[in-house]
Amino acid sequence: QEGMAERTPWEIVLPDESATEDLGRFLAEILRPGDLVALSGGLGGGKTTLARAVIREILGDPELEVPSPTFTLVQPYEGRTGQAVVHADLYRLRGPDELVELGFDEMTDRAIALVEWPDRLPPRQGPTLAIDLSLKPEFGDDARLARLIGGGGLGGRLMRARALRVLLDR
Ligand code: ADP
Ligand code: MG
Repeated sequence: QEGMAERTPWEIVLPDESATEDLGRFLAEILRPGDLVALSGGLGGGKTTLARAVIREILGDPELEVPSPTFTLVQPYEGRTGQAVVHADLYRLRGPDELVELGFDEMTDRAIALVEWPDRLPPRQGPTLAIDLSLKPEFGDDARLARLIGGGGLGGRLMRARALRVLLDR
């Protein structure tokens, strides 16, 4: 059950790249198998940078090479505990058939999915828990404005984690 509060957008200014990486590590803490993070925003917005931070945190390797899946489109990873993470960049996707060929549904079934250009996905069905996260340049320089909306139970999880973080930061 989710109310209005859980779907209230959360906007954060990320002053530089390390703040984007911090947000990625924060998200890694609350994501669970089957969750999807839809990463939108233009080229160079920081989608891959954020996904890389999530993956490194979940896999427990801060140095791990996480190339942009620009041409592979989907790149699976497996964490120490067997947790699957799928990083996708659908900018070059030719159509929904190609997703089927890539085995996207099977791959993401019990994985944490981080999807750049999620507008290329067919309309989501079923109970997929998703965070819509957009990044856009703001105020010049390296700052980005991140806007997050959690759907399904993820809205509540996001809200509680934010509240906890504010309390702990004081
Ligand atoms: P996208 O995947 O959205 O195309 P990338 O993560 O590949 O974007 O690239 C973002 C670029 O912007 C990188 O070169 C990164 O160093 C730079 N950058 C500058 N400021 C930030 C920020 N606050 N967050 C993320 N990346 C930033
Ligand atoms: Mg990218």
